[in-house]
Amino acid sequence: MKHNWDMIVVGGGPAGTVAARYAAQKGVSVLVLEKDREIGLPVRCGEGVSIRGLEMYTPVNPKWICREISSVDFYAPDGRLVELDFSLKGAILDRRLFDRDLADLAVQAGAVVKTRANVTGLLLDNGIVTGVKVQIRHEEYVLRSRIVIAADGVESRIARQAGIKTAVTPENMDCCVQVTAHGIKFNPDALSFYMKREYAPGGYVWVFPKSETSANVGLGISGNNTHLISPYRSLMKFLGDTFPDASWSGLVAGGVPTDKTLKQITAPGLMVAGDAARMVNPLSGGGIHAAMSSGKLAADTAVEALEKNDISREFLQRYANAWHEKSGKNHEGLFRLKEIVNKLTDEDLNSLGEKMAAIPKEKRSLTRIFKAVVWNKPRLILDVARAFSGI
Ligand SMILES: Cc1cc2nc3c(=O)[nH]c(=O)nc-3n(C[C@H](O)[C@H](O)[C@H](O)COP(=O)(O)OP(=O)(O)OC[C@H]3O[C@@H](n4cnc5c(N)ncnc54)[C@H](O)[C@@H]3O)c2cc1C
Repeated sequence: MKHNWDMIVVGGGPAGTVAARYAAQKGVSVLVLEKDREIGLPVRCGEGVSIRGLEMYTPVNPKWICREISSVDFYAPDGRLVELDFSLKGAILDRRLFDRDLADLAVQAGAVVKTRANVTGLLLDNGIVTGVKVQIRHEEYVLRSRIVIAADGVESRIARQAGIKTAVTPENMDCCVQVTAHGIKFNPDALSFYMKREYAPGGYVWVFPKSETSANVGLGISGNNTHLISPYRSLMKFLGDTFPDASWSGLVAGGVPTDKTLKQITAPGLMVAGDAARMVNPLSGGGIHAAMSSGKLAADTAVEALEKNDISREFLQRYANAWHEKSGKNHEGLFRLKEIVNKLTDEDLNSLGEKMAAIPKEKRSLTRIFKAVVWNKPRLILDVARAFSGI
């Protein structure tokens, strides 16, 4: 294997493989290192996306789509259903295929992808990142590169080694569990959200259809609430209460950082992307789109930096600026909305459900929902105004 690369990408998720593809297309020599045995496995994801969001970064292969989505259903704690019109075309992916094909597209563009390649450390020369130490199938290698992209997901360790503060406070780290439930009766055309605090304090329960009779059913509980309730037990209770006849398979667990993006996402020779940079939508917990978007932005800056032979933090800051210009304000607004939603009790949510149900479906919007929140809780008016100034 070559020991010198223009760009090494740590992590073969959507952030890493999209970054690899865009850079390789511009003639950059790219190596992607993925610690798992296979790209795309294990799938730790509800697999819900907006198709338009995907199309911005890749041609969409119909084989990736398990189910198209045409509406969003919210269930208030008292069981009241509030349907929202879904203006975006949504889909439930087969992430195993999706992640694998994104890696394949990167390889077609000229990148090299290695699996079972666990990056154990960064090479640093006078504070400049110059490559990685990696264990590939029990062999240790030292690989040099002019730029490293840390796309190593929620458990990221790479950025920290370059001195970047990556810690997430417990209230901004959702602890999630999910199963695929089979033989259930539900709305197979909707993303369904259950807001009862008893099941998911600081989060929500999702039911995302995989077919007419099966769905990814999962929940996230914010880390500061997991001492109150175990996510696994809570999910079992939800399944027992809601789909008592269901069988389930494929239990997975994982963290979702619903935090603000890291203050620092670059260091000399290094850029951090996707979950590793805490770019997940803090309100919904969806991070596939942000991962792809940041991967592309990081690749654009990497290509320029390599052309200009300037990998200083000042130059790479163009990536951070591009991210903040494209998504930063919106992201902060969504973070504030999440904080507001977390302040609502079951009673607040029931009353909100009642108000929303009285509004015609086509007029139910995020703005209308938060207007109703303020009506109920006037002291939240400033928080809501601040949140919407970012969106
Ligand atoms: C339960 C759950 C449900 C979710 N549901 C949704 C959803 O419905 N919709 C949505 O948009 N998002 C969802 N998300 C979030 C989404 O999965 C992530 O935001 C997305 O995968 C982020 O992509 P990424 O490339 O940044 O990181 P990842 O996809 O996590 O990829 C990072 C990769 O880096 C590898 N890696 C880590 N450390 C190393 C190392 N040292 N060396 C080599 N490789 C390494 C990992 O093995 C991994 O493959 C969910 C997350 C969870 C946990």
